[in-house]
Amino acid sequence: MNVDVVNSDVVKADVVIIGGGIAGLSLAWALAPTRTVVLVEAEPALAFHTSARSARQMQPHYGPAVIQELTRRSIAMVEDISATLAAPILIPRPLIMLGNHAEVAELLAGQPGLKLLGHTQAMALSPDLRPDTFFAAALDDSAKEVDVPALLEYYRRQGLAAGATVLLSAPVTTVQHDDTGFTLTAGEHEIKASVVVNAAGAWAQEVATLCGVPSQSLIPYRRSVAIVSTAGPVNPAGPMVEPFDESYYFRPHGGNLLISPCESVPAPAGDAQVVDADIRALIERIDAVTTLGITGVVRAWTGLRTEAPDGIPVVGFDAAVPNFFWLAGQGGYGIQTSAALATLAAAMITGTLPAADQELAGELSPQRAGVL
Ligand SMILES: Cc1cc2nc3c(=O)[nH]c(=O)nc-3n(C[C@H](O)[C@H](O)[C@H](O)COP(=O)(O)OP(=O)(O)OC[C@H]3O[C@@H](n4cnc5c(N)ncnc54)[C@H](O)[C@@H]3O)c2cc1C
Repeated sequence: MNVDVVNSDVVKADVVIIGGGIAGLSLAWALAPTRTVVLVEAEPALAFHTSARSARQMQPHYGPAVIQELTRRSIAMVEDISATLAAPILIPRPLIMLGNHAEVAELLAGQPGLKLLGHTQAMALSPDLRPDTFFAAALDDSAKEVDVPALLEYYRRQGLAAGATVLLSAPVTTVQHDDTGFTLTAGEHEIKASVVVNAAGAWAQEVATLCGVPSQSLIPYRRSVAIVSTAGPVNPAGPMVEPFDESYYFRPHGGNLLISPCESVPAPAGDAQVVDADIRALIERIDAVTTLGITGVVRAWTGLRTEAPDGIPVVGFDAAVPNFFWLAGQGGYGIQTSAALATLAAAMITGTLPAADQELAGELSPQRAGVL
């Protein structure tokens, strides 16, 4: 990705965003039209960590109500973005959830947008399933797959076009705060800004500590994905399939299969690595529920999903340190909520939050009960 070259010793901005994953880049896109923005990324490339390691899904019925609202808004916004690009970045990827009759009935009662699938219908949509491994199913036919690299590139390009500056290989290592604002050391750069945004993903607690902010209870959890080849052909238009206990998922990935053990294991912030035993056990599991016959691992990766105790992102100004803004704790929803969350965060920072969004913002607040 191209990056603005900055030669001056001191970079000044209204807002400095720490972190060049999807959270930081989407905020640069949303904020740059009205504020001077500098985004600093520790790595030599943008989206090096979790944002490059997702399953690329946008599922409007996944997660708590506040996430579902943000996802529905984001899908509409990404559809608009997609319409401006040469190739679409959003494709339908229906989700089938497998379980027993009681699980499906309970889910459908709470989520009217989902559809009941009979056993025969589920087998027709996903003919590679072994028929004796589930009793009933629910379908979310509004779920999408998104081209994440293209979305990240859109946010970056639009942010730069609106005047944002992006600095790579610029880890923030010191932060001072006084009445005039924040002064940061980021690699070889000194940056002065009125507002600091913590979009540091798994490092959000470390960045808060650097800024003298009492940290939130944000914990990174590792999760892996593998792309595997199969003896049987994979229908590229097939659905994503996941059981109710979320013990695995799989979906087509080109002519291969993307699979995940859906593990959620606490891990230190860092360049998370695959645990081979997890992938071996997962392959056995997928072979037990499908007839595709996995023949090999094309590649596998692990990323960190960082969560607050209630699983809801932490977004808003901190109460203890003025002008320190949280954009963290997106967990497994950071891709599917990025457009709406960035728009909401930008409105909070510029003091232009619509009255209709106050309640939503309150649910994300760093000051909400149970998050500290
Ligand atoms: C296997 C897996 C599957 C997933 N699937 C989905 C999915 O289908 N849909 C979905 O919505 N979400 C999914 N997620 C979650 C999603 O990927 C994350 O919520 C999202 O990428 C988090 O983005 P981020 O920008 O907060 O973090 P990151 O992408 O990790 O970005 C944070 C950045 O901050 C930088 N940084 C840290 N400290 C500093 C510092 N001191 N100075 C400068 N820079 C710093 C880091 O280098 C990093 O680049 C998945 C996650 C995993 C692991």
